Amino acid sequence: MPYEREKEVAIEAALRAATLCQKVRNEQVAQAIEKSDKSPVTVADFGSQAVICQALASAFPDDPIVGEEDAAQLRDPAMATKLMQVTSYVQAVVSDATPEAVLSWIDRGNGQTGTRYWTLDPIDGTKGFLRQDQYAVALALVEEGEVKVGVLACPALPVDMNQPEGERGVLFVAVRGQGAVMMPISGGEPQPIKVVDASDLTNLRFVESVESGHGDHSRQDAVAKAVGITADSLRMDSQAKYGAVASGQAVLYLRLPSPKSPDYREKIWDHAAGTIVIEEAGGRVTDMYGQPLNFSLGAKLVDNQGVIVSNGVIHETVLAALRETA
Ligand code: AMP
Ligand code: MG
Repeated sequence: MPYEREKEVAIEAALRAATLCQKVRNEQVAQAIEKSDKSPVTVADFGSQAVICQALASAFPDDPIVGEEDAAQLRDPAMATKLMQVTSYVQAVVSDATPEAVLSWIDRGNGQTGTRYWTLDPIDGTKGFLRQDQYAVALALVEEGEVKVGVLACPALPVDMNQPEGERGVLFVAVRGQGAVMMPISGGEPQPIKVVDASDLTNLRFVESVESGHGDHSRQDAVAKAVGITADSLRMDSQAKYGAVASGQAVLYLRLPSPKSPDYREKIWDHAAGTIVIEEAGGRVTDMYGQPLNFSLGAKLVDNQGVIVSNGVIHETVLAALRETA
């Protein structure tokens, strides 16, 4: 099967990173450090990126990785304690890790997009991670601008959405042309997933961010109502939202530009893995104008604004509702 090795390496790397993240969260050392753009980063973001870049570098040494984090801040002598913490968490999964090796693995994520590249969000939804809510480890392989492999590890997502207090930790995996599956992080058979195959939206939900600054909640609400979704939205951090639509827990994910940052351009690592999981589950992903997301223009989706994720059946209706609420 094409991309078999890429898929296996990506799954193994994402699972190790997910274990690291949960360990950090359970041990309560996840204090936020502020980045230059004022967004938070934690020991777990750095550790996750180190573990995944190490695995990719060893399996595919020529592949560039475009990751969210870089090690510049951690190289500051004032951050020595943080670097030691990151190193000790990485050592639990990569036994020969040293501080220098950890820094260089993290910096492997400073690659550029090209004909073939990986894109990585070591913790998508860091704010959710810090709030004890949802987050995801998101890894995707892009070739010729098309996502070919996507892996989303969602350590806090209930295995059975109808039993929110039950086992948590779900892995979503998709390979172009081979479908999408989900499985418990603890192991077990991959189950094929499909979007809701319906245009009757009674009792169906839409998903959106928890963070009001990452979307336009009032317009999202208006669009959902206009297409006939009456239930309250399900608010969730990270690309776990893509997993919710791909597995039929929701029918629509709306991410419209926040009025506070109307010119914001989305990052490739926030959407690449989710996009292929949706497409292989039979759904559709476009920007708010119906254009496909263009993953060949660098780290930002400079050609796109907003993201609309649906079961496909309702997509054109949603785009029309968006034009009407413009
Ligand atoms: P979510 O968990 O869906 O709210 O998305 C988390 C992601 O939102 C982070 O990884 C950031 O890259 C991204 N983000 C940061 N600022 C904005 C913004 N102004 N609009 C949309 N997304 C943003
Ligand atoms: Mg992110």
